[in-house]
Amino acid sequence: MKFYSTRDKNNAVTYKEAIFRGLAPDGGLYMPEEMSDLTGLIDSFSPDTPFNEIAAEITHALLSEELDRVASERVCSRAFNFTPELKNIDENISVLELFHGPSCAFKDFGASFLASSMEEFLKTDSRKATILTATSGDTGSAVARAFYKKNNIDVVILYPSGRVSPLQEKQLTTLGENIRALEVKGSFDDCQRMVKEAFMDRELSDRLNLTSANSISLGRLIPQSFYYIWAWAQAKGQRDNLWFCVPSGNFGNLTAGIMAHGWGMKNKGFIAATNINDVVPEYLKKGEFNPRASILTLSNAMDVGNPSNFERMLEIFEESHEKMSEVIKEEVITDSETKDTIKLLLDGRNYESDPHTAVGYLASQRFLNKAAAGTVEAGKAPRIITLSTAHPGKFTEVFEEATGSRPELPESLKEVMKLRKVSTLVGNTLEDMKGVIG
Ligand SMILES: *Cc1c(COP(=O)(O)O)cnc(C)c1O
Repeated sequence: MKFYSTRDKNNAVTYKEAIFRGLAPDGGLYMPEEMSDLTGLIDSFSPDTPFNEIAAEITHALLSEELDRVASERVCSRAFNFTPELKNIDENISVLELFHGPSCAFKDFGASFLASSMEEFLKTDSRKATILTATSGDTGSAVARAFYKKNNIDVVILYPSGRVSPLQEKQLTTLGENIRALEVKGSFDDCQRMVKEAFMDRELSDRLNLTSANSISLGRLIPQSFYYIWAWAQAKGQRDNLWFCVPSGNFGNLTAGIMAHGWGMKNKGFIAATNINDVVPEYLKKGEFNPRASILTLSNAMDVGNPSNFERMLEIFEESHEKMSEVIKEEVITDSETKDTIKLLLDGRNYESDPHTAVGYLASQRFLNKAAAGTVEAGKAPRIITLSTAHPGKFTEVFEEATGSRPELPESLKEVMKLRKVSTLVGNTLEDMKGVIG
């Protein structure tokens, strides 16, 4: 299997090239060259098939030219020492919890697989690399944890001093070993600019073999398909009219689901759930794509006004609005509805949810209501698996505002709060950064 850029079909690259490049040189995003038919493999999984086995089988099926069976198993077993969990909430709605990884958010699946694949290739080639990344708080911790103690890889994370939450700061600065946190006297924009300048500095970039791990990486996209297929296997016997509801921002998560669908996972469709940053729902409804500045909401990991993965979605559906809107339905949820839903889930179901998960749950209910009323074409008695993207303990303030109580913190987050912060304070220029890493 080769991978091409969404902006240039003529220069396909290997998986290895694609993950060390991150973005294609023409600014496009990497996509599989053809839609593989994995129907037989996907059908062979049962509710007893372990997540790791599904991950390794799919990896091998897609990347066999670069990762043989043993290597595929090694990459997956090193990536995933955590699994998804599926919980029934209502008669027709189950929650697919994706927050049992090290940073308690679904991004752990993508970041861990990327880190593990990079480690595999670097070891084989006896090379070293440096991951350089800027974070405004949340996404950096998944990357830091994923690359922690990986051989042949150093990580440098820039974050804006005083502008990330105490928990986020602890998650970035307490690991040590191969993870270095640079606390920048400036804004997140400064951090991003410094990273960009470092990549453009040929001498520095070559010497440290700089590479990125950002969310559009193909190495983070592919593994996000694994948990859909695992959940599909879990739902055996209840798959007649099965939908996945995906709380979305940059639409990587949903894109991975659509890819799994294309490989032969025969779910009926998807529900794209967003907060009021509703550029993609608007496209699905009207066929017009109008990217705009993002608006701050309570489900802030989904505050995206120009979702990068839309380019990949267009590619999959061959630029056809009709085809896309047949498979993907849309729901848009406001902040006050999000808070009400967090409370309702706690009071009525005894279920603690983070704001992103609440958006997905309410969208699922709306969809079921519309299906019952016949205002959306969904067939008879749809079942929905809605994705839970973060542990409620990562969003204690919103949870408390909505319910008056505090959510249970997962053990790993409690532990991290007790550790000592170690960061290097730097100014906001490339020269300042080179002074400490170069
Ligand atoms: C990143 C993130 C999302 C959005 O995922 P996309 O792949 O960008 O659509 C949703 N919820 C949480 C908690 C996230 O961190």
